[in-house]
Amino acid sequence: DGDSVATPEVLPGDDEATLRPKRLTEFIGQERVREQLELVLQGAAQRGTPPDHVLLAGPPGLGKTSLAMIIAAEMGSALRLTSGPALERAGDLAAMLSNLVEGDVLFIDEIHRIARPAEEMLYLAMEDFRVDVVVGKGPGATSIPLEIAPFTLVGATTRSGTLTGPLRDRFGFTAHMEFYSTEELDRVVRRSATILGVDLRADGATEIAGRSRGTPRIANRLLRRVRDFAEVRADGVVTRDVARAALEVYDVDELGLDRLDRAVLGALVRSFGGGPVGVSTLAVAVGEEASTVEEVCEPYLVRAGMLARTPRGRVATASAWSHLGLMPPVNAPG
Ligand code: ATP
Repeated sequence: DGDSVATPEVLPGDDEATLRPKRLTEFIGQERVREQLELVLQGAAQRGTPPDHVLLAGPPGLGKTSLAMIIAAEMGSALRLTSGPALERAGDLAAMLSNLVEGDVLFIDEIHRIARPAEEMLYLAMEDFRVDVVVGKGPGATSIPLEIAPFTLVGATTRSGTLTGPLRDRFGFTAHMEFYSTEELDRVVRRSATILGVDLRADGATEIAGRSRGTPRIANRLLRRVRDFAEVRADGVVTRDVARAALEVYDVDELGLDRLDRAVLGALVRSFGGGPVGVSTLAVAVGEEASTVEEVCEPYLVRAGMLARTPRGRVATASAWSHLGLMPPVNAPG
């Protein structure tokens, strides 16, 4: 359901760039990750070597791309961007790697979706700054080793669990990104409102923050939609009442659940009696890809205490039933 305002994908026209924090000190929240990353970067800088490869893991919209850009900025390096799905052929990756300049940061988004031959090429590149280019075909094929400039790979993934062992092992540091607290999101929307020139009142900020699914990208999107509403239907000032009325128009409920989240819970409760049910069955019931349900919806539903993942499948908690206005069965997990 890509037209919902609460989906974490980047939509065209969103102009994320103006709102992106540019330096580590501007990056709100994720205290732990920030501290760890600071040490990695400073240690490397003191030794005069490129930092270890970094894996950024966590649900979409938590600032992985922003952090990759920040890493390059803090190092004073250039950032080269690509993604797992774009690296279908190993040759594409070889071209990218051989064009790197010493100290560059190579960012591979959705690195869990990289094709196997490219992944295998990456092993040697990450470890020895070398690629083996295969020339020719069949028995006469030879592989020519090619030196590449020392670089830092930053990989981003929404599914660190599906990364192969050899790839995971080659990252010197994995940053586990967590959902943001309401207080942190409050700071995110205030910062964005200042940049965008929106008259955002304290209670308006709190209202938006509380409905942002723990996700800065969603917080920014909701702020824009609330701004539209404030300008079109009110006097432009974003108060709590304005924010509430606006978010009602966009089907974002008090917990920040959007239509897809509610569809998933609704199917789980109404069609499957609260579960347990497998994720693919659940995905078919709501007409979505299993990966979207698993990577976009579920992490937040779990964190909000609405859904439990059990070995036998997904189960609705008592709060999920109550949230949908239904009486929880006695055996529903709390
Ligand atoms: P994906 O996983 O889909 O690539 P992402 O995690 O890379 O998403 P970003 O695109 O980096 O998310 O972040 C989305 C937007 O959220 C940014 O443009 C930025 O405005 C805002 N944002 C993210 N993290 C922070 C933060 N810590 N402080 C302030 N703003 C943030």
